[in-house]
Amino acid sequence: MLAATKGVPPERIAEAVEAGVDALGENRVQEAREKLDGFRGVKPLHMIGHLQRNKARAAVQFFDVIESVDSLDLARVLSRLVWDRETPLEVYIEVNTSGEPGKYGVDPSGARSLALSAAALPGLKVTGLMTVGPLTDDAAAMRAAFRRLWELSSEIASDLPDLEAGTLSMGMSGDYEIAIEEGATLVRVGTGVFGPRQA
Ligand SMILES: *Cc1c(COP(=O)(O)O)cnc(C)c1O
Repeated sequence: MLAATKGVPPERIAEAVEAGVDALGENRVQEAREKLDGFRGVKPLHMIGHLQRNKARAAVQFFDVIESVDSLDLARVLSRLVWDRETPLEVYIEVNTSGEPGKYGVDPSGARSLALSAAALPGLKVTGLMTVGPLTDDAAAMRAAFRRLWELSSEIASDLPDLEAGTLSMGMSGDYEIAIEEGATLVRVGTGVFGPRQA
């Protein structure tokens, strides 16, 4: 389980770390740098929010995993920053499994091509897929979105062994149970751990 820490101060994040969460996730590079520095090397730090090109350099210097790669353009930017690293940068491909307009993530039809192209870039290792479930109370729609990510992962894994043993990052406070039933290996929980976010 990854604790999503947006809006949460470091003291409370420390409690979650002590309680045994597996990873920490932030949506913004700047907020992560302000709050998560003391957790570097303690827990894997994941970028789970949309990553702007101009924040990519700071992001690869700080995070262990970038979960939100949703274009070849972004993958190329990241690769140019890390191509000469001894250990490749782990990235996940973010997929818009529900097709909601205005949502980040590559369309499911483009996920395979993006995953394979990104994996071929120097310095990058594609070790997971990520999705944000649909904004709905309809459990069947949530389940369909998560199932789609699982299907994509098994399809792509035949050509990408790193995915075979990789991560399926799906499920948040409101839908993680369904996501786990559909094969999630990492859930990203914010309010379920820390309580409601302050506005
Ligand atoms: C905020 C956030 C979460 C956690 O959401 P909760 O509903 O608070 O559990 C998970 N993933 C992403 C990408 C988020 O932005």
